[in-house]
Amino acid sequence: MTRGKNKALLVDRDGTINVDCHYCSDVSKLVIYDDIIPVLKKYQDEGYLIIIVTNQSGVNRGYFTLDDLDRFNSEVKRYLESHGVKISGIYFCPHRPDENCECRKPRTGMVEQAARDFNLDVKACILIGDSEDMDGGLARNLGIPFIKVIH
Ligand SMILES: [Mg+2]
Repeated sequence: MTRGKNKALLVDRDGTINVDCHYCSDVSKLVIYDDIIPVLKKYQDEGYLIIIVTNQSGVNRGYFTLDDLDRFNSEVKRYLESHGVKISGIYFCPHRPDENCECRKPRTGMVEQAARDFNLDVKACILIGDSEDMDGGLARNLGIPFIKVIH
């Protein structure tokens, strides 16, 4: 790893940390997979920052608001932190696919922003997610290892 730089475990949210309830936004429907917690802890113990990177097109589709998303993300973070996993950052893409943004996975915009914010050595990062297309695609675009989670 480049000296003085940080490494991160980049983590998908829906279907990886929590049960994917289809455009999840209602905190009362949040269910966290218990088996992800030891995985996150293992990487945290190895010195990886834990950073969530999530596509949330439900915002710009009008299914839920940024406030709803913020509440849901805050609860995910609170739950994980209460189980010993510190979440350093949560990056989300609010755009629909037709908006052709640079942040929607498998595009790399969210990770580039995280790299600037946390002084990451991107090549030392690892990505974990449940979607071969979105998460696996992002990992391939970054040239980093992909761990496919199967609950
Ligand atoms: Mg997912």
